[in-house]
Amino acid sequence: MKIGMISLGCCKNLVDSEKIMGLLVSAGCTMVQDPSEADALIVNTCGFIEPAKEEAINTILEMAEYKEGNCQKLIVTGCLAKRYKDALIEEMPEVDAFIGVDEYDHLAQIFHEVLGLDFPVSYGKCERLLSTKPWMAYLRIADGCDNRCSYCAIPLIRGGYRSVPMETLIEEAKLLALKGVKELVLIAQDTTRYGLDLYGKRRLPDLLKALNEIEGFHWIRVLYTYPDELDDELIEGMLHLNKVLPYFDIPIQHGDNRMLKAMNRRGSIESIQKTIDKIKQMYPMPVFRTTMIVGFPGETEEMFENMLSFMKEVKWDRLGAFTYSHEEDTLSYDMPDEPSEEVKQDRYERLMALQKSISDEKAHELVGQTLEDLVEKQDGLSGRYYGRSVHSAPDGIDGSIIFTSKQPIEFGTFVKVEITRAKDYDCYGTAVCD
Ligand code: SF4
Repeated sequence: MKIGMISLGCCKNLVDSEKIMGLLVSAGCTMVQDPSEADALIVNTCGFIEPAKEEAINTILEMAEYKEGNCQKLIVTGCLAKRYKDALIEEMPEVDAFIGVDEYDHLAQIFHEVLGLDFPVSYGKCERLLSTKPWMAYLRIADGCDNRCSYCAIPLIRGGYRSVPMETLIEEAKLLALKGVKELVLIAQDTTRYGLDLYGKRRLPDLLKALNEIEGFHWIRVLYTYPDELDDELIEGMLHLNKVLPYFDIPIQHGDNRMLKAMNRRGSIESIQKTIDKIKQMYPMPVFRTTMIVGFPGETEEMFENMLSFMKEVKWDRLGAFTYSHEEDTLSYDMPDEPSEEVKQDRYERLMALQKSISDEKAHELVGQTLEDLVEKQDGLSGRYYGRSVHSAPDGIDGSIIFTSKQPIEFGTFVKVEITRAKDYDCYGTAVCD
């Protein structure tokens, strides 16, 4: 059977998609890129904020059109299917099955009923079919979340925090290294909480130490750390591991203490600043990334200005932002004084404009330096190469290093690039050829 898979949402959902594809391939299926060739189509959805839900619905409707052609079955999996299953079954009869993230343990059985396939392994035991570039892979170290940020629907969808046993992760990582993965990216809703549920203590430092010993990896990058869980043991632990990058992804969500309180976020602006200062003292060239939400109920212009001031103080190398999404069943749903969509959009644009100038300033600080670069592609016309340094996480969220080289370079290899200029989020340079 030929199967087409459309994976929406975050990298944690992408790992689910890779496991679903691995399960289907174990039953002899072939994954196809072109939906018109597929006998069955699967849309793995995201469902945590309005724009993501709209994208999911539009994608499902788009894929449903292929049922007029080759496609016999349309299956919808993921967070949207978990959160709105009953309503979706009613509203979308063109879909043959809605399978929520909480049903994956029975996926082989469900696929047997819907697609008539037999599976040698279960979803939990099957090997992922990697969909990222061959030199990079995500390692999801836990699922769910025990934090209760008042704007967030993820705990409602993914449930409580569940760490993956360390031996399972090390085994999976060794397999990824054997497949040629050079950059391992650790993900979860909150990576810093790893182990607390399973071992009664935080064990991210232990996990990183074990992963650092695996032959083949060149870079290990940690995403989604929770500010007040970035403790001394972790910060010092990362410093002494040669493959672990000094890349600190610390979503703080806001820069005003009253907003942090209303968002039910632990910690304060002062404690976040203290953690950042500690890291700056210990690491020669740390990189800081964060995520912000604008337009949370009760956010005043003054509070928003405080967020901008905090951004100017910290000067985050990288920053992503969302406008607040009014999500039913979340703690903030009934909170008053939600800014209008116009005000949210206006604040979003002002915040991102400020960040663009800060990222440009940070990029200019790299001019004259020589950076190690993971080469990922080449522009056919200009011949210039595109890659990432420690400063940029995968999937283009953080900007690129764009450079020329006298010698051809293989994708997925590391080269030294001398940075000669910078603009906004990107740096430009020339390869240092021996
Ligand atoms: S840490 Fe907060 S924002 Fe992140 S998944 Fe958990 S509840 Fe949601």
